[in-house]
Amino acid sequence: MTFRSPLNPPGDRCRNAFLWHDCRVTILCYHTVERGWRSPLAVTPETFEEHCAWLARRRVVSLDEAIGQTDRWGRLPRGVTALTFDDGFAGLYEHAWPVLAHFGLPATVFLVAETLSPEGRAVDWAPTAPPGTRTLDLDQVLEMQATGISFGSHSYAHHDLITLDADECERDLRASRELLEDLLKRRVPHLAYPRGLHNDTVHRAAEGAGFSYAFSLPEGPEEVSRYTIPRAVIIPGNGVPTLRFKTSRFYLPFRRTPLWPALRTVARKTGFGLRLGQTDMETTQEN
Ligand SMILES: [Zn+2]
Repeated sequence: MTFRSPLNPPGDRCRNAFLWHDCRVTILCYHTVERGWRSPLAVTPETFEEHCAWLARRRVVSLDEAIGQTDRWGRLPRGVTALTFDDGFAGLYEHAWPVLAHFGLPATVFLVAETLSPEGRAVDWAPTAPPGTRTLDLDQVLEMQATGISFGSHSYAHHDLITLDADECERDLRASRELLEDLLKRRVPHLAYPRGLHNDTVHRAAEGAGFSYAFSLPEGPEEVSRYTIPRAVIIPGNGVPTLRFKTSRFYLPFRRTPLWPALRTVARKTGFGLRLGQTDMETTQEN
């Protein structure tokens, strides 16, 4: 009997059938590892090393493995985590990759494809990134890929995809996949939405552009399907206790409750639970 995961059902009918509270894997979303950034996008090398030391005691699997590990009811194993990084900042090469290699942790980096195009692209989509911030160059990407780091698309030009019409959106996403597949000489089935922003038009464009799965950053109630697989953002100040909570089976379902925006408002007004309640929104706006 061929086993079919709910994330791999044929056609649209199951796109919204997969309810998040059945899922126990937590896919984490980092951006970069850097010293001296005053930005919600960068954790320090020391914090990242602490995180990896803790994560290495859990089961960290590749994104492909995480997606594929479903049981007949579509649920994912407890205590499993997958690591992703958005935007492909150059700091990953110097500060994240060696630590991942040291602890033997697989990870996926979502690249803004235009940054690897012949014309290139400056980092102008992240206002809090220091001036002159660079992204990974092709040599660095290929070097990391050779040691097991996988790469996905973060769109071609980091537009807010919900602002594009269906054709523009599919064109951007297709161009990103084709350029990355050409450069990486590998299939690129995964997409992470810029700023986590998506809607039905974007889902169809992602499927039409040839992506198999797409990842979001939910900020409230959101259906889960193969084109809206939620991730938990990790931000500066998130110590291991917060990482433990964000990798727990409670975190993402909790974020999907109406309680979350209320908590964040309280956090903003009182400063209580700042590291938990507030930042993801800024981070989402930011990345
Ligand atoms: Zn981004």
